[in-house]
Amino acid sequence: MSQFKDEINFIKNLYGNKDNILLHEPCFIGNEKRYLNECIDSTFVSSVGKFVDQFEIEVAKFTGARYAIATVNGTAALHIALLMADVKRGDEVITQPLTFIATVNALSYIGAHPVFVDVDKDTLGLSPEKLEWFLKQNTEFINGECFNKISKRRIKAVVPMHTFGLPARIDEIVAICDKYNITVVEDAAESLGSYYKERHTGTFGQLGTLSFNGNKTITTGGGGMILTNDEALAKKAKHITTTAKIPHKWDFEHDMIGYNYRLPNINSALGCAQMESLPLFLSQKRLLAEKYEQFFATKSINFIVEPKNTKANYWLNAVILENLEERNAFLEETNKFGVATRPIWKLMNHSSMYKNAQTGDLENSEWLEDRVVNIPSSVII
Ligand SMILES: *Cc1c(COP(=O)(O)O)cnc(C)c1O
Repeated sequence: MSQFKDEINFIKNLYGNKDNILLHEPCFIGNEKRYLNECIDSTFVSSVGKFVDQFEIEVAKFTGARYAIATVNGTAALHIALLMADVKRGDEVITQPLTFIATVNALSYIGAHPVFVDVDKDTLGLSPEKLEWFLKQNTEFINGECFNKISKRRIKAVVPMHTFGLPARIDEIVAICDKYNITVVEDAAESLGSYYKERHTGTFGQLGTLSFNGNKTITTGGGGMILTNDEALAKKAKHITTTAKIPHKWDFEHDMIGYNYRLPNINSALGCAQMESLPLFLSQKRLLAEKYEQFFATKSINFIVEPKNTKANYWLNAVILENLEERNAFLEETNKFGVATRPIWKLMNHSSMYKNAQTGDLENSEWLEDRVVNIPSSVII
């Protein structure tokens, strides 16, 4: 019998004692099929159509961002957001080592270099203290811009990520970056429906990005969104994601090297239906997290709750095990009995592509890397 028998039984019971409980399944209980049919009947299934515009309006309204630009996925959204933030080849971008690979890949597409700064243990997001210490120790101003004294490269942007939907201390991060003249681009891929001091994540930086991949809080199959309050950046982002074509009834004229990154109308149809269900998803996720919190309070396993001053979407619930050995036993046992769990990502500087990147001290990230495990988090209706 398993050392984690109670935990396995509790989770199985939550999900109606199904044989195989997945980590995060999408949920289609609204107008998805209706809108998809409508989209197919219209024949506008590709990059032009009413659902794309509607989806952008709904997401802007929900997040409070002035502008929202839909893209083919969250990685593409981040790629373009970093370009809009004027990140150039040879620049440096500071981010956290505890993130999904897409955060770092996006800046690499531009030819920028990642620098890794530690996270906080309670938010799992970029630590303002560690960021400020890193900048104080390692940078100097040249013509009003922040340069790394060691690499001699310009530090153009900081990309905090709201891990599993837990908001990072984003106002403090923005204040520090303002002081150093560094642009903040928030990777809010995991935090649709998460708020810091009652303001939606992804709207604090100059730009923010969302993802609608199949495992996220809402899904469009694949999809992403750029958020910004800056009208000029919004226009430019839309232009560059639609091959930089100058609108004209028949002429092909493109005024820069653009990208085919626009979210198709058919995916947006799904997005419009999912946005209608989002408030229900969020309240059900909160209920589930409360049940987990109460259960784990009786156990020696620490369930991660939303940090103070925040409202989390509880996209992926997570627990902290005692040490690496116990973590491995928990992963082994739960998966053996049909309860999908998985460890938090390996630190980005532990992957072969980014192993030579400069880092600050990564004490918290390393501690979390050995202990954090995600547990089933699908919405229960
Ligand atoms: C999901 C995710 C992305 C974007 O992923 P796509 O699959 O390209 O939509 C980016 N960053 C983080 C942290 C993510 O979790």
